[in-house]
Amino acid sequence: MLLDPIGRWNEELKRISVLGATGSIGDSTDRVLQMYPDRFRVVLISARSSWQKLAGLIRRYRPEFAILEDETAFCKLEKEGPFRGTHIACGQDALLQAIADVGADITVSAMVGAAGLRPTMAAIRSGSDLALANKESMVVAGSFVNRAAIEEGIALIPVDSEHNALHQCLVGGKREEVHRLILTASGGPFRTFFGDFSSISPAQALKHPTWAMGPKITIDSSTLMNKGLEVIEAHQLFGFGPDQIHVVVHPQSIVHSMVEYRDGSILAQMGKTDMCHPIQYALSYPERWTNEQHHFSFSETLDLHFEAVDHERFPCLQLAYEALQNPSSMPVVLNAANEVAVDGFLNGQIKYTQIYQIVSQTMQHFEGETVNELDEIFVLDQRARERASMNLK
Ligand code: NDP
Ligand code: MG
Repeated sequence: MLLDPIGRWNEELKRISVLGATGSIGDSTDRVLQMYPDRFRVVLISARSSWQKLAGLIRRYRPEFAILEDETAFCKLEKEGPFRGTHIACGQDALLQAIADVGADITVSAMVGAAGLRPTMAAIRSGSDLALANKESMVVAGSFVNRAAIEEGIALIPVDSEHNALHQCLVGGKREEVHRLILTASGGPFRTFFGDFSSISPAQALKHPTWAMGPKITIDSSTLMNKGLEVIEAHQLFGFGPDQIHVVVHPQSIVHSMVEYRDGSILAQMGKTDMCHPIQYALSYPERWTNEQHHFSFSETLDLHFEAVDHERFPCLQLAYEALQNPSSMPVVLNAANEVAVDGFLNGQIKYTQIYQIVSQTMQHFEGETVNELDEIFVLDQRARERASMNLK
């Protein structure tokens, strides 16, 4: 039996950890948790440096653990305390230990970048089910994540809206009856931009037309690298080859993705552009919980538009398909180089068009590498970051 935040014993409460609790997915998770206070007990929250926001969450949820990555921010959090009943700590080792100790029933993995891999693996190894937003873990180490999930007997439900949609369209279907997965892409802010891509500024690229998200994924959405990462993520999550994973541009982002079966039937999952929806699905699966806020209105004219990807203007997507030709190592290189390049672009060190160039050149440099062990991924990730950084000013 568990003690809930206001001190009642409740055997129904699920113990939940939120890694990356202060980010965009963290905010949406917070909203879902507030909608269902009788279902969850938050036991662990983490962030990199947003200590004030984390302090607010500690006061709201009184978790057993609250961990910051950054030491300077941690000192400020300490001064903000005391936080009765919450053990606060800093650094990755403390986070991994807390994940192992806390024994969550389910973990929302919502850190950004490959930095989420170790905590995600630790959560799986602790026996926790996983609501996975951190797509980069799946991109760089999908086979290891899958193997660990099978060994621990945990459920892995994707939060990324496209994969969450595919999960919904695949439930009940037979694998051999699937013809292809169709990921939808909004097309980002430059879908109809035919000017000089090299002059695009971070402020322009950070304006996503349909989704409000953290900065890294917003830039990835504008280059369509996000869709590339999602093609790799879909391959790792559902086991279909790259030839069975297609992308179509759908600017309204109402159809979140589709599965075409071999008889020609296409199942589409539709809904509002609100990440609370896939998060709730991942937390409630295999049940569905009542949520009046998510209902869709058909009272206004609804135009659903689909178009092909323009690979010439958005070459990053193709890099992801190329990376899947060497799936053990090249996604690691692609992802690391992209993280470096996106950071460089946001910091004003490189032009927008150099994101593609840096990723492409780094991939060429590491052609033919293979990875057999999880530890080799961390080494290759570091080497690819160093190589990609050589191209920053
Ligand atoms: P944000 O940048 O908004 O938030 C990231 C969170 O992770 C923050 O809590 C941040 O802490 C924490 N964090 C970042 N780096 C580290 C680190 N090195 N160590 C510890 N904590 C860290 O990102 P999003 O919420 O947008 O995205 C999170 C993940 O979900 C990404 O993998 C993204 O691709 C995926 N995703 C996001 C969607 C969205 O709508 N936002 C949709 C689909 C997938 P701090 O606040 O202190 O920096
Ligand atoms: Mg997505």
